Amino acid sequence: MSESLSFFKKVNQNFDYAAQFTDHPTGLLDQIKICNSSCHFTFPIKRDNGDIETLHGWRAEHSHHQLPTKGGIRYSTLVNEDEIMALAALMTYKCALVDIPFGGAKGGIQLDRNEYSDTELERITRRYTYELIQKNYIGPGIDVPAPDFGTGEDEMAWIFDTYITMSPDKLDAIACVTGKPINQNGIEGRKEATGRGVAFGLEEVCNYADDMKNIGLETGIQGKTVAIQGFGNVGYHAAKFLFEKDAIVVGISEIDGVVYNPKGIDIDKLSDYSKENATIRNFPDAIYIENPNEGLELECDILIPAALENQITEENAPRIKARIIGEAANGPTTFKAHSILKEKGALIIPDTYLNAGGVTVSYFEWLRNLSHVRFGRIGKRFEETTYNAMLRAVENATGYQFTDTERMIVHGADETDLVNSGLQDTMINAYQEIREIQLQYGIPEVDCRAAAFINAIDKIAHSYLQLGIFP
Ligand code: NAD
Repeated sequence: MSESLSFFKKVNQNFDYAAQFTDHPTGLLDQIKICNSSCHFTFPIKRDNGDIETLHGWRAEHSHHQLPTKGGIRYSTLVNEDEIMALAALMTYKCALVDIPFGGAKGGIQLDRNEYSDTELERITRRYTYELIQKNYIGPGIDVPAPDFGTGEDEMAWIFDTYITMSPDKLDAIACVTGKPINQNGIEGRKEATGRGVAFGLEEVCNYADDMKNIGLETGIQGKTVAIQGFGNVGYHAAKFLFEKDAIVVGISEIDGVVYNPKGIDIDKLSDYSKENATIRNFPDAIYIENPNEGLELECDILIPAALENQITEENAPRIKARIIGEAANGPTTFKAHSILKEKGALIIPDTYLNAGGVTVSYFEWLRNLSHVRFGRIGKRFEETTYNAMLRAVENATGYQFTDTERMIVHGADETDLVNSGLQDTMINAYQEIREIQLQYGIPEVDCRAAAFINAIDKIAHSYLQLGIFP
């Protein structure tokens, strides 16, 4: 089948491949696969110099089997309806896989954010939000956006402020968007969540001795060499947390080239350098490679595409040396490239699983917003007092005096602890489910991606059947 298929059709190729291993009726599979609704709108904005410009925006709600729908908002020149529907579909499968009770959605505006000032971006984001409100494509129980490629906390704060201004009497309005800054009803750890989830996921993958042996690697994340494409939110945080887990990040590629050091790159130093110079080019502690595409072909154990879709294709897949492909970006590997890599014996950890950390912590933020209380606020002090009393009782009974380090166990869980442990638990459980499905089928055809899709399809089918929507 051709590589020139649209992105949505490519997502559906993976769906169809996995669906053949299930026994759900064709009509139900069609309903799961189809995009339930999508909306294209154009709107004008006034540039700082007074010019009027027309922009194109989209929002797609792929599946209403659970509400609200949930998915990021992307600012990129490549945004179009097909891309948004494909990304919304991936969100549906991702949420199902990690047991998050949302349908999938995605939105975007076709623009290059570097061509607009901050005040223009604010006007654009507010106007886009207004369009979503008008069309009923946003709301805490309807559809809840989040950051994606080209957007971050600032855009989420503008969306939040616009929505809340237009619905002042709605108690739950603060849950209309996630990925907000902490001081604007955001949650600790959301900004880092997707990258941290990638690190937790890959750590879990590398802990299975048999799987590692099959691909010629040692067990454990420590010492694994890693190359990452994209040094934005997801790429930077994945690099940072893998570095903290003693993996060796040997290469980072950005749009203007690659930095490579086989002994390892200091991630925080590179981040400071790229903020200061607005490029990673000529970072002093590494070799610089002009062609960004070469970043995918570096000698390494783990390759993490963390930029955009369709980066690993049938053209470059034969030259990829990594034994593990960890899909932090959405849809980075084409269907044909997947087959080539699999043929070469690589282990491909799919996007629907590996980048689910973002939506997981978004879910926690949404819950926090609906409950109007910070996680840990009510129980933390009580836990600490109880644990302290227990330690004192042990000290009195035994005469033993706990050291300050040992006393750390009395620390009650705060929001950061709870968010991170909830995220880790989610990533571990979801991978175990995927592995169990692979073991259950016991055939090479059901690889990690197919198993992830089978799991998601089964859960969504179950949810539809429980709803009793088929009279
Ligand atoms: P971002 O805008 O913060 O960063 C993307 C980075 O990739 C930018 O620095 C950009 O310059 C770089 N880039 C673009 N094209 C490149 C290329 N050809 N080679 C090398 N670098 C390139 O975006 P992000 O939020 O980090 O998202 C990255 C990917 O992760 C997207 O596919 C997105 O859908 C996915 N994702 C993001 C989140 C999230 O929470 N932000 C959650 C799940 C999935």
